[in-house]
Amino acid sequence: MTLFDTHAHLDQAEFAADLAAVLDRAAKAGVEQMVSIGVGALSSEATVALAAAHAPIYAAVGIHPNYCHEAQPGDWDRVGELARRPKVVALGETGLDRYRDYAPIELQRDYFDRHVRLSQATGLPFLVHARESLDDILAMLREARARGPLSGIMHSFTGSAEVAAECVALGMYVSFAGMLTFKKSDELRAVAATVPADRLLVETDSPYLAPEPLRGKRNEPALVEHTARRLAVARGVSFAELAAQTTANARRVFRIA
Ligand SMILES: [Zn+2]
Repeated sequence: MTLFDTHAHLDQAEFAADLAAVLDRAAKAGVEQMVSIGVGALSSEATVALAAAHAPIYAAVGIHPNYCHEAQPGDWDRVGELARRPKVVALGETGLDRYRDYAPIELQRDYFDRHVRLSQATGLPFLVHARESLDDILAMLREARARGPLSGIMHSFTGSAEVAAECVALGMYVSFAGMLTFKKSDELRAVAATVPADRLLVETDSPYLAPEPLRGKRNEPALVEHTARRLAVARGVSFAELAAQTTANARRVFRIA
């Protein structure tokens, strides 16, 4: 059984003391590969260093919508340089967040647009964070799709089946996180059942939002198994089939052999 955690923040302080044990538990759970996601220039440098040091870790580099107002001159250029490093497989995370609203929305749009254009120039997929902003994001994705093909992932997806279908039609993958396992998430599980098998991904978003039955604890890549098992039930397929399909999808979108 092989699983792939497509979204974790392993450079965060929560993992500073015991990353080796975290990776060990991931391996035991069958999580052979994972992508650690940067949220700013320094965080992106840290994820690239983690990828260089640990075989299962790949890196994504970018500036998160909730931190783009803190970006210093030169930070975006640094992201562009880091994007060319070995084991960097994606750009982000990027997107729009009207829920937290830390950065002015126009600045968030500017940074989202930069990630999408860099993705179209480099072929690296971009990772989309969406909170109370799916309409705006869809509008920007449609505009970008008119310029050329899109490759990206809707991370920790919580939208409707209609939005998921349009994202897929635009070329995106759809990734589900721990929220899928929560008792009240029947609607989200119904949405997850509609996503085409070849565009489906699983993630933890570690260290945040651990799945049931570990809700409230620190999340880590090994726990992606809980989300994958629940997703398999929702889709009426075996866990083995779901694991193989989502792992193949992750390796395809990140272009990992
Ligand atoms: Zn994230």
